[in-house]
Amino acid sequence: GQCSYICPVGAIYETPDWKKVLKILERKEKILVAQTAPSTRVAIGEEFGMEPGSVSTGKMVAALRRLGFDYVFDTNFAADLTIVEEGTELIGRLKEGGPFPMFTSCCPGWINLLEKLYPEFIENVSSAKSPQQMMSAVIKSYFAEKIGVKPEDIIIVSVMPCTAKKDEIKRPQQKINDIQSTDYVITTRELAKLIKLKEINFSGLPDEEYDNPLGASTGAAILFGVTGGVMEAALRTAYEILTNEKLPKVVFEDVRGLDGVKEAEVDVKGKKIKIAVAHGMANVRRLLDDLKEGKRYYDFIEIMACPGGCIGGGGQPKSLDPEILRKRAEAIYSLDERSTIRRSHENPYIKQLYEEFLKEPNSHLAHELLHTYYTDRSKKKVEVSQ
Ligand code: SF4
Repeated sequence: GQCSYICPVGAIYETPDWKKVLKILERKEKILVAQTAPSTRVAIGEEFGMEPGSVSTGKMVAALRRLGFDYVFDTNFAADLTIVEEGTELIGRLKEGGPFPMFTSCCPGWINLLEKLYPEFIENVSSAKSPQQMMSAVIKSYFAEKIGVKPEDIIIVSVMPCTAKKDEIKRPQQKINDIQSTDYVITTRELAKLIKLKEINFSGLPDEEYDNPLGASTGAAILFGVTGGVMEAALRTAYEILTNEKLPKVVFEDVRGLDGVKEAEVDVKGKKIKIAVAHGMANVRRLLDDLKEGKRYYDFIEIMACPGGCIGGGGQPKSLDPEILRKRAEAIYSLDERSTIRRSHENPYIKQLYEEFLKEPNSHLAHELLHTYYTDRSKKKVEVSQ
């Protein structure tokens, strides 16, 4: 017989998904939808000779339309949705007394590490799906209903900074109504490759807007692209819901910057919430080991596997600039500052989504579509076929 060994680490191979996407762009009978992650817009310009830190959101949207997508939506919309769902979960845990620490869940690199090496923290991780997966769930339910098509007739391609996003979409517990929600993931680099292949003059493109209702987002959403950003966005919303008061300052300097592990204490009307932010695998593992040994305590922790967060993701343009992460991070912060709305729960289209469809944060339908679970994959498995 033959023996096959299932790799306990589950190595991720960068598969050339751009080739598959090239084929599906010819399938005119399907509705083709693209979504783009927060950090892609501050990096893709580098592939076309633009300065590091350039923001090319509008050109990226235009390029996706020229490639043949019928709708171009913004993953940032779903980042706002993630904050509302995850912030509500945090508030629930604060009221019910745990379990703490609560961890963010949007980084599949972290989720893989959790399931394989730190399964003792599984119940601590937020059940909120990542923005990519929330977006696709909303497209194949709410949006499909709005435009009167079956979810199977929509193909969703997401543009991500990340190779781990490619296996996140295949997780069985992420299916909605028995179909895969996101169909394909291409990296920022793969999108640049498609644009070059189709000889689209990226720098010469006009700036175009995302389609609505899933294209509008707040300054909080763009922060998902950088380490500390999910924490900052979540605090902006959770503080207001908990206190019924506007947060005195929307910028949390303590969670910004590129230190490996950052910590802070937030005073919510006399109650102190201890938070931590970690990015880069070595820092993350150090923090988790300390937690396991009881050397530290926090209430809420943000984890990003890549250095700098998604701006430093494995699918981003390669750069020789030693300041690249700082430049991309500055571009992210400038986008937040330029936004008129900077708190996720104030996004008018998010409010509309709840009013028309989900009813309220953490509702039954929200749980069905927007939340997930994790499994212990720490055991080595050996499969023997006879
Ligand atoms: Fe992907 Fe890295 Fe971002 Fe995690 S931090 S979601 S692994 S790009």
